[in-house]
Amino acid sequence: MVVTKDLSRLGRNYVQSGLYIETYFPEHEVRFVAILDNIDTAYDTSNNDIAPFKSILNEMYAKDTSKKINSVLGTKRKLGEYLGTAPYGYKKDPKNKYHLIIDEEAANVVKLIYEKYLAGFGTMQIADYLSKQKIPIPSDYNKKTRGIKSLTYGLWQQSTVRFILSNEIYTGAIIQGKRKKVSFKSKKFINLPEEDWIKVENMHQAIISKEDFERAQKVIRATKGSRVVKNDYLFKGLLRCYDCKGYIGIRSPDKNGNIYGRCQRYGRFGKFQVCSPHNFNYQVFEEQMLGILIEVCKKYTNTKKLEEIAKQSKSKQSEELIIRKQIDSFKGTIEKEIGKLEVMYDDRLAGIITLDEYMKNASRIKEIVKKYEQDIEKLEQELSEKSNKTKNENKLDNLIEEFLQMKKPTKEIIREFIEKIEIHSNKQVDIYFNFKPLQEVNENFICAKKEYERKAVYYSSRTK
Ligand SMILES: [Zn+2]
Repeated sequence: MVVTKDLSRLGRNYVQSGLYIETYFPEHEVRFVAILDNIDTAYDTSNNDIAPFKSILNEMYAKDTSKKINSVLGTKRKLGEYLGTAPYGYKKDPKNKYHLIIDEEAANVVKLIYEKYLAGFGTMQIADYLSKQKIPIPSDYNKKTRGIKSLTYGLWQQSTVRFILSNEIYTGAIIQGKRKKVSFKSKKFINLPEEDWIKVENMHQAIISKEDFERAQKVIRATKGSRVVKNDYLFKGLLRCYDCKGYIGIRSPDKNGNIYGRCQRYGRFGKFQVCSPHNFNYQVFEEQMLGILIEVCKKYTNTKKLEEIAKQSKSKQSEELIIRKQIDSFKGTIEKEIGKLEVMYDDRLAGIITLDEYMKNASRIKEIVKKYEQDIEKLEQELSEKSNKTKNENKLDNLIEEFLQMKKPTKEIIREFIEKIEIHSNKQVDIYFNFKPLQEVNENFICAKKEYERKAVYYSSRTK
């Protein structure tokens, strides 16, 4: 007797599971039961006959269940029942897991943040104040309340303060359904427009009055975008600190007109001993970096020309043709083997061969087919790698041509070439190119031209 939870557990392919249910099991006097589908071959019921349709129905059922769960969750949201984890300042009511109650310690911090903000302090000043007072950041605080000892002592970020200042939950309102799942099979979420959000007020005790919250929103809106737009530098956004992996900020010109780059994390948290300055003169850096980029591009073009002359004897096209022919012949073999299987199936139905013979031969043929399929897959991968390489090289060639013709290169084209540039504290610079060939040229280049390296203080290279 074979028992499975449902029909789908016996086999995904109905032709195969059908062979078991209708031929193999009856011939070997095996009783088959699929519990959830109500199939039992010991009894001749109509349920057994509709087995093929069951698998389709199963899927429809799964979809229906998902819809029902979604509508239950939607109702809960409309009633203002809180479904997520408790936000900072609140905890879940032990009597009702959909209800929030105040967490005194964290709620006091939330109140302090609003008080300071409304008294005219900026989000950075507030964040620094909290850090200095050694008040644990929300994620550390959560660990503490769950009994997990936090090894780190996190510093408050402006973004955390701003998030708390704009979270309406502190007024007692619950806002849910900001995003929804694409389908019951997918894990992807999409964001919904604000008018579709589900907002229910007065669901729990407020930490902040509605008036104070509104006042805070006005200040936030007023300060948004008030920062002066900085100059647009060629390498801006590509520069990273080698030590903390954070961004390197480029500062406005000083009174002598010099522009300096500096680790942003140091600039922001240096007073808490985070990272080190990584200071450097950006103008010198930009000039040298452009020079290096031009040299590398020229070097690449020259090397490529030489390679092409050397390669002209053997043709790349024929190599691909051989692979394609091989694939076609493998496909032909697979077709033949499957043809044999079909003939055997007919023979089996006509009683010419025994079931054991059929099973033995069928599994042998399946093995052969599988092997050829794997071979084809390997060859096809080889082919696509080859064509990808050619495509990438063509793209690079066009890019280099365009770049070398430009009098003043643009930010966009620099971005095409370079993934990122890491700055060490001793002013060493590591360039990470988006194209492997350029990376290779760059490395050989350093080995060959030591004196160039010495001239360019800011220069070195690393592979990804
Ligand atoms: Zn740093």
